[in-house]
Amino acid sequence: MENEVVSKNFIEQIIDKDLEDGCYEEICTRFPPEPNGYLHIGHAKSILLNYGLAKKYGGKFHLRFDDTNPTKERTEFVESIIADVEWLGAKYDGDVLFASNYFEQMYEAAVKLIKKGKAYVCDLTAEEIREYRGTLTEPGKNSPYRDRSVEENLDLFERMKNGEFADGSRVLRAKIDMSSPNINMRDPVIYRVARMTHHNTGDQWCIYPMYDFAHPIEDAIEGITHSICTLEFEDHRPLYDWVVRELEYPHPPKQIEFAKLYLQNVITGKRYIKKLVEDGIVDGWDDPRLVTIAALRRRGFTPESIKMFMDLVGVSKSNSSVDYAMLEYCIREDLKLKRSRMMAVLDPVKLIIDNYPEGQVEYMDVVNNQENEALGSRKVPFCRELYIERDDFMEEPPKKYFRLYPGNEVRLMNGYFVTCTDYKKDENGVVTEIHCTYDPQTRSGSGFTGRKVKGTIHWVAAPFAVKAEVRLYENLVDEEKGVYNKEDGSLNLNPNSLTVLKDCWLEPGLADAKGGESFQFVRQGFFCVDVKDSSPEHPVFNRIVSLKSSYKPGK
Ligand code: ATP
Ligand code: MG
Repeated sequence: MENEVVSKNFIEQIIDKDLEDGCYEEICTRFPPEPNGYLHIGHAKSILLNYGLAKKYGGKFHLRFDDTNPTKERTEFVESIIADVEWLGAKYDGDVLFASNYFEQMYEAAVKLIKKGKAYVCDLTAEEIREYRGTLTEPGKNSPYRDRSVEENLDLFERMKNGEFADGSRVLRAKIDMSSPNINMRDPVIYRVARMTHHNTGDQWCIYPMYDFAHPIEDAIEGITHSICTLEFEDHRPLYDWVVRELEYPHPPKQIEFAKLYLQNVITGKRYIKKLVEDGIVDGWDDPRLVTIAALRRRGFTPESIKMFMDLVGVSKSNSSVDYAMLEYCIREDLKLKRSRMMAVLDPVKLIIDNYPEGQVEYMDVVNNQENEALGSRKVPFCRELYIERDDFMEEPPKKYFRLYPGNEVRLMNGYFVTCTDYKKDENGVVTEIHCTYDPQTRSGSGFTGRKVKGTIHWVAAPFAVKAEVRLYENLVDEEKGVYNKEDGSLNLNPNSLTVLKDCWLEPGLADAKGGESFQFVRQGFFCVDVKDSSPEHPVFNRIVSLKSSYKPGK
């Protein structure tokens, strides 16, 4: 179709052009996490972007651990990252890859540069290197070791590898241009001596490559075509290009930068999340108040909702921060038609129907989701004693309060019309039970049209109800104050981020809900069985999101 308007993001436009120009036959992208923490929503953006492009163009997608810096890396993180990527539905081609498996090739690449006269061993201390580097406004100075012969460099570099020199005493540097306006090009260090045990290679190496040297080589070895990273690497691109050019890779990869995803009033920095975990302020890396992928999963977010969110956000070249309400909108949209609408009373008070025969039980037919017939229906027991929400009753109602109060009639959802006749209070003035009468001809589904009532409330049958703990969440951060304290950089935490309700009553159909299963609780929101703490004896539900939205798409 000639007039078809296809809106493509800037990365897709670059890929289209590269394919048209014949730079590559097939594209290959990658997600390159450092295994030094759990992945968060920002990483999900990178995963879905890279995977999505590979899928769209019929290319390949790699999952590669960027594990060239042994100090902070742990196997625990490798496992959690793989689980998260798989959960998001990003299918990587081939095995999980590790940059550390290319250490030998990286070493050889460095030797190649030395032989070409493009790298040298430098004996300056770290501090001297910094001094010689110059500043943004002043050019750097050449190192006195810059003109060592190829032979001497080859010998010294081999001896660095063999462990003949102390940590930090010598480095290998790329020989580029000490007066380049781009500081990254002023003979950057590409290898250092450091005796560290690596989670994959153990003590095999005592020299480790620097990120800017290692990353392009990893990409080139794997045949990555488009190496997508975030904006802070823009100034490093000339070095990336220099490395792949000098190493003469036949179809060198290209680096493309996009803006990181930031969510308003949400903590995404690994460093901060780690501190919350270590200080015991949250219940581990998957505490449902966090936005790690593990936490979003535990809270009850679905991969589909996260993908929808990323599609709404789009990719861009300029940093901005997205409203968390948009993520909530996506999970609501995703679950709305997929989940059953159940009755659950979170703050219960007894309702007794005085004219309902004692010992009688009726099983009401309840449609699981009025907007999606395919979900079928269920039977819900109804009897004389029920629980209703405490705030669905008022002794002295204000105007426009249409729920229960003495003398008023309401509809019990999927049940009967009831009229409040009386109530009891304890010595503290707390309502302990509410009495009413029901009208047998108003049974739900009977087609009764005799009169209308304005209020409809939900309930559960007391003798059949399942007791549960329900956890309600608010933002972990104090929204008024913002994420970080301006004075000392600490976090402004919201003391009410978690509310635990211990005496909730659920309709009996929820008794065998499994960890990770989610439901709508009518009038309350979407809830998910906690995978960690829930058991048949002690069910625990997390509120994923309430039903009300402050976000409207297209606004
Ligand atoms: P953090 O800043 O949270 O510590 P990181 O960037 O150090 O994260 P890496 O493991 O190095 O974490 O990142 C893996 C990939 O995820 C990189 O390609 C990085 O650019 C990308 N990424 C990290 N944070 C975001 C974000 N907020 N939005 C989009 N992509 C991100
Ligand atoms: Mg990083």
